Amino acid sequence: MSVATNNCQSAKSSLGRKVLPHLQKHDGAMTRELLLAPGRYGLGMTHASLDADTVTTATCGYCATGCGLRVHLRDGQAIGLTPATDYPVNLGMACPKGWEALRVLDSTDRATMPLLRKNGCLQPVSWDEALRTFCDRFKAIQQEHGTHSIAFLSTGQIASEEMAFLGALAKFGMGMLHGDGNTRQCMATAVTAYKESFGFDAPPYTYADFEQSDCLVFIGANPCVGHPIMWERVFRNRNQPELIVLDPRATETAMAATQHLQLRPKSDLKLLYAITHEIIRLGMVDESFVSAHTEGFDELRGFVANYSATAVADQCGLTAEQVSQAARSIGTAKAASLWWTMGVNQSYEGVRTAQAIINIALITGNIGRPGTGANSITGQCNAMGSRLWSNTTNLFGHYSFENAEHRRIVADALRIDESRIPDTGSYSYDGILDAVDRGEIRGLWIIATNPSHSWIDQDDVRRRLGRLDFLVVQDMYHNTETVQQSHLLLPAAGWGEKLGTFINSERRYGIHKQVRQSPGQALSDFRIFRAVAEYWGCGEMFREWSEPEAVFRIMQRASRNQPCDITGIEGYQQLDRLGGIQWPWTSEQASASEPSQERRLFADGQFYTESGRAKLITAHPAEMPEAPDDEYPFLLLSGRGTVSQWHTQTRTGKSPILRQLYPHEPYVEIHHQDAAKLGVEHNALVQVRSRRGEISVRAAVTSTVGRNQVFIPMHYGVTNRLTLQHFDPYSRQPSYKDAAVSLSPINAQ
Ligand code: SF4
Repeated sequence: MSVATNNCQSAKSSLGRKVLPHLQKHDGAMTRELLLAPGRYGLGMTHASLDADTVTTATCGYCATGCGLRVHLRDGQAIGLTPATDYPVNLGMACPKGWEALRVLDSTDRATMPLLRKNGCLQPVSWDEALRTFCDRFKAIQQEHGTHSIAFLSTGQIASEEMAFLGALAKFGMGMLHGDGNTRQCMATAVTAYKESFGFDAPPYTYADFEQSDCLVFIGANPCVGHPIMWERVFRNRNQPELIVLDPRATETAMAATQHLQLRPKSDLKLLYAITHEIIRLGMVDESFVSAHTEGFDELRGFVANYSATAVADQCGLTAEQVSQAARSIGTAKAASLWWTMGVNQSYEGVRTAQAIINIALITGNIGRPGTGANSITGQCNAMGSRLWSNTTNLFGHYSFENAEHRRIVADALRIDESRIPDTGSYSYDGILDAVDRGEIRGLWIIATNPSHSWIDQDDVRRRLGRLDFLVVQDMYHNTETVQQSHLLLPAAGWGEKLGTFINSERRYGIHKQVRQSPGQALSDFRIFRAVAEYWGCGEMFREWSEPEAVFRIMQRASRNQPCDITGIEGYQQLDRLGGIQWPWTSEQASASEPSQERRLFADGQFYTESGRAKLITAHPAEMPEAPDDEYPFLLLSGRGTVSQWHTQTRTGKSPILRQLYPHEPYVEIHHQDAAKLGVEHNALVQVRSRRGEISVRAAVTSTVGRNQVFIPMHYGVTNRLTLQHFDPYSRQPSYKDAAVSLSPINAQ
């Protein structure tokens, strides 16, 4: 059965905020109370228990900065918010997305009841019918095509406890083998790089490092737009730091740099090796640290001998002196920190590029001390929660499915039969979509993500989703591009309407809370998972998973003796009181003191590898798969557009204020000399074409992009019609920032 690609008008018109008549009572253990019971999970801070005017603090639900937002309540309902002044992350600051976090909950586009496709149209149905259909259809697919013919795609936007529940339910309860998350699109490269180099996915830093460095290096990162509160913390640095930016674009961050290395796109790996070579050549290696705490230095030195500044600079579009100066600044700094994000992660050689950054931090001894680190900045509010707890490609608690001892540990922690845990990991996101294309996966459950917009080579992913026998989407809104393709929509509560923890970029567990009633029949993802467990018939396995904090206790058990051990956290009240707690926080640490607010990893030089040493890893740069040519002479870069837009704009597009802060129409940034050559004027319509598709956008004539390069923000629905499907071979993260395109003025055609 193919999937229709639009809702029907009749269904759309009935999607108001009206609450449907009573839910049907299921025959099994599920009760109407379990599904509805508003405000059950609230840390004493729900609309049900807060009668007077009061305030409470909740961690923001957009980006992984993890700001504390002070929510002002009246009669238990949030009526406004301000940035928390005493939260250790943001110190009284918030970006526009945070300020508008409540507004997007009020949208008329909220999904308020389950919708089931009937006669080609999504029609309102009861939760009972939705859940029965969910189970009947998925079980029928499993019967016909095998247990592994259904899969899930999760997200970095829901609570750790919800991710844990979903992963355990899908794999241990429903028998799925394959599930991945949209964190594949943002953090998989950093995860793989850290695991190989440090022995565990372990971002080592604390935000105080922004203020304590005397040399900060940003590689493929534009925190001024992408992580504005982290950027604010850079400006609190009193050391007059050297600020080095490696970026092909003259971004807002690059404009503030003391050294902007405006390198050619995808020459970053060569440049990092050249900087490494210079550091070694100039005798700026921390030899005692290297000999005590790393392995592979001799190989690294031999490897980078081929990457001298003079040999490489021209290929990078730089001078040898620029390369050497950057190396000297890093090598002579008392405390240098190196920060990267999507410009590195979203690359066909992202893992090795990230490891080239890690190598520089290690050989200069810039790790484990204030102001140092090889620091990947996380994207989504709970990408780190996904990395540890989603039970997708890694086993629960960042264990391995393939390791029998790991399976036993997790089975004990979850108090389930070990045989329920598969002994192989999942396909990665792209592998799941490939399996959909082969007809191997026939049913898919997508939670809080929008691949029909965000996945690379959009027309192709839409085609693949259209092949599914049954597509379920669980989302806050009824009109995302992916919902339009679905057979069943499960309406979910959003940030502010439920309770749980996020883990931010510096490994801090923070609490977000229920400060609003979700609209209509929308339920928290947590309660949807509970309901699915009951309807599926595996509810008994999840009796202990009764509320988010109960799941947090299970996570604590599973974390024991892992690098991410959180057995010392007393519970949600302590997280709330302290403004979050960074992992690790073990029961042994807790018996000695309260957690300090700024803890970094590797202060003792001990890494999580078998030898205890960090690994210095290299590989020669690869060819760009689709370099510009005569037919497609421009290289398309994509990335964040403005501070007021988030990903596919599913939420930020619902705020009138945020919408005022960015251009509504998609646009392409083009160098003014290229524009003149093509006869393109500022704000004129241009056609941008790649081998995948073509789009019409406005021209933004500028000098912030280099010659023969163009940039389109990722937030617009059309951008991924152009991008090329290719991936880092180790992390399977999509490489969004290199596709060959052509441009032509519309009026000339
Ligand atoms: Fe929220 Fe990130 Fe903005 Fe902070 S910087 S308010 S966490 S979106």
